[in-house]
Amino acid sequence: MSAAVLATLEFAVDASAPDAPARTLGHRLIDPEAPVLTVLDLAATRGDGIFETLSVGRGAPQALRPHLDRFARSAALLDLPTPDVDAWVAAIHAVAAELAEHDEAFIKIVLTRGVEGGSTPTGWAYGAPSPDFSAARETGIAIVLLDRGYRHDVAQTSPWLLAGAKTLSYAINRAAQREAARRGADDALFTSSDGHLLEGPVSNLIVRHGDLLRTPPVQHGILAGTTQADIFGWAEARGYTTRQETLRAADLADADAAWLVSSVRHAAPIRSVDGVARDVDADLTTEINAFLTARTR
Ligand code: PLP
Repeated sequence: MSAAVLATLEFAVDASAPDAPARTLGHRLIDPEAPVLTVLDLAATRGDGIFETLSVGRGAPQALRPHLDRFARSAALLDLPTPDVDAWVAAIHAVAAELAEHDEAFIKIVLTRGVEGGSTPTGWAYGAPSPDFSAARETGIAIVLLDRGYRHDVAQTSPWLLAGAKTLSYAINRAAQREAARRGADDALFTSSDGHLLEGPVSNLIVRHGDLLRTPPVQHGILAGTTQADIFGWAEARGYTTRQETLRAADLADADAAWLVSSVRHAAPIRSVDGVARDVDADLTTEINAFLTARTR
């Protein structure tokens, strides 16, 4: 039997005001293998929608509010209806409760523009136990730097490229991961065409020099990472200084330690860049991952 859990969001359009945003009525837990999406849904035909993936520890959704804030920011960037926070929180908690026996699980929430020509969005929350990421967390990951092909200021010059929104159009992110695999690596780190370090296809970068932790600025068209933010809060309470700052390849090469961090996989220490081995900080990595896994909110 599948351990997956699915809740669909239910929406209603007011027939007397068809241009008003659809109201969210609530959610329904359904068979996770039941068909829910029509082939005409814009998620399927255009990748036109947004998502978030949260980690869940023993039934507790982690960084729930920051994920929902980012979900709302993505919706605004795509001119989608503003997500009804209370309805999404209820759906997420209902799915998370079904996963409470698992130390680590994840929930993916999705909001699409619905069927072309209609005004009812489609939404769901899908949860399942997380894969085992102990190898990446303990041995570390080999990464390659891949040019994303845009300048670091693309979010300001070309907002229609939706840099910084978590859209369903992840074919490019997947292609980057396959390119990394072709080059014998585990993951990729995007760079801007003008040489700034950006983010991974599904992760943020953190570099450590002594007691200073840094990550590239969100103004560089990257996602504001919920995991990176939680790690910075935890580290500040332990005396580290944290900063969002422009970083270049040399900053990664001479860092005392570096990680790609994300919900679900958590902190994966970088053990090589473009085939060049680098130090990992095994003790700090263990502490960070223990903190991330134990979060109750
Ligand atoms: N950057 C991108 C492009 C992502 O897709 C993700 C998460 O999937 C992240 C960064 C990391 O974000 P978070 O820590 O909130 O999972």
